[in-house]
Amino acid sequence: RWTVMSMTELAAPASSLDVARIREVFPILSELVSGKPLVYLDNAASTQKPVQVIDAIANHYRRSNANVHRGIHELSNRATDAYDGARDKVAAFFGVADSAELVWTRGTTEGLNLLAHAWGTTHLRAGDEILLSVLEHHSNLVPWQMVAQRTGAKLRFIDIDEQGRLDLSTLDDLLTERTKLVSITHVSNALGTVNPVALIAERARAVGAVMIVDGAQSAPHLPVDVPSLGADFYVFSGHKMCGPTGIGGLWGRREALESLAPFHGGGDMIEFVELESSTYAQLPHRLEAGTPNIAGAVGLAAATDYLTAVGREAILAHERSLLAYAIERMSEIPDMTILGPRDLSERSGVVSFTLADIHPHDLATILDSEGVAIRAGHHCTQPLMKRLGVGSTARASFYLYNTPGEVDALVDALQKARTLFG
Ligand code: PLP
Repeated sequence: RWTVMSMTELAAPASSLDVARIREVFPILSELVSGKPLVYLDNAASTQKPVQVIDAIANHYRRSNANVHRGIHELSNRATDAYDGARDKVAAFFGVADSAELVWTRGTTEGLNLLAHAWGTTHLRAGDEILLSVLEHHSNLVPWQMVAQRTGAKLRFIDIDEQGRLDLSTLDDLLTERTKLVSITHVSNALGTVNPVALIAERARAVGAVMIVDGAQSAPHLPVDVPSLGADFYVFSGHKMCGPTGIGGLWGRREALESLAPFHGGGDMIEFVELESSTYAQLPHRLEAGTPNIAGAVGLAAATDYLTAVGREAILAHERSLLAYAIERMSEIPDMTILGPRDLSERSGVVSFTLADIHPHDLATILDSEGVAIRAGHHCTQPLMKRLGVGSTARASFYLYNTPGEVDALVDALQKARTLFG
C-alpha cells in the first residue's frame, strides 16, 4: 500500500529558472478560469505554447505556406527549407546526427502504431514474445495486442513494486530467445516513474530483441540523448513539449528503420510508380506518405529551440524542486495518499494522488472552480490502475512555467475540497 512520503526523503535541487520571465511568453497563462488566475497543472496531458511557437506557425502560414518537395517556385522552396530545417533541428535536440533517422508522425500513438504495423506484422511469428510493462499507456499496449492477435505472438509484462517502479528482478525469466520485441515507457505518465530504459535496452539486445522506448513523457522533461539509450526506436509527441498538436516523431537506428515495411502508401514515399507495383523512396520519406504537417514541424522546431535556450537540465531541476515542494505541502493534508517512487531522482514532475474517499473527478471539478487544472481518471493506464487497486487517481503535473505559488493554490483548493466533502 502506498503511503504519504516523509520529508527526509525529499532532497531536491533548487530551481535556477527565471519563471516570471518564462511566464511572460506563454500568453494563455494570463487567462482567468472561473474568474480566477489559471493554474495549469495538466502538463503530462498537454503543454502550453510560448509565443515563439505560436509566431513560428503563424509566420509560416503568413509568408511561406506551400506544399514541400514538389514545386519549383519560391514559396515551395521556402516551405521546403523550413520543413527540412525543422527535421535537422529536432533531430539535433535529441542528439541524433543523421536527421534521416527521424520520421515525422502525428505523435507517440502514431509512432507506436507505425512500429506495430511496419515492424510487428513482418517480423513476428506465432510463439514469439513481446515484452511490455504494467505501467504502459494504452497506446503502448493496444497496438501490440492487435499485432499479437494478428501474428499469434504472445504478450508478457514486467510488474511493478510497491513504489510503482519496474520490478527488474523478473527480467531473467521474462527475457528469453523467444522475446523479439521490448517496448517500455521511459517515464510513466500516471505515476511519474522514470524507468531505467538504457539498462533494459542492454538486456533486450543481449537476447537479440528489438527495443522501443515510449518517450512521450521523457522528451519534454529529461535531457535525452536518444541514441545513447541503446534502444532501436524512440517515439515522442510535440504537444507535450511546447510544440503544436498533430506532430511528433519516431527515431530509429538506420538499420532498424530500414527493416520496416512501408506503413502508408501514397505520394512522397515512392521512387517510381507503375500501375502494378512501385519502388520506395529513401528514409525518412519512405515512412511519410502524403503531404506532411509542415507548419507542425516548423512549430515543433521552434519549441525545441525554445527548450534548448531555457536549458533542459535547468527545466528538470525546476520540476524536481516543484515536485518536492508539492509533496511536502500535500503531505500536510490529512488522508492524502501520494503514489509513486519515494526517491525524487526516480520521478519526473508528476504527482498522482488520492484524497480520502473523494472521487478524483469530484476533486478535479472543485479544483477547476478554483482555476486549478489537474487531470483525474485512469490516465489511459487502466491495467495500471487495476494493478494499484484504485479505480482512478488525481494527477498534478508540472512544467517550466509552474511556480511554488501555484503549488500553494493547488493545496488550498485540495483543502477546500476536503472540507466540502468532509
Ligand atoms: N505514452 C505515454 C507515456 C503518454 O503519456 C502518452 C500521452 O499521454 C502517449 C503515449 C500518447 O501520446 P499522444 O496522445 O500524444 O499520441
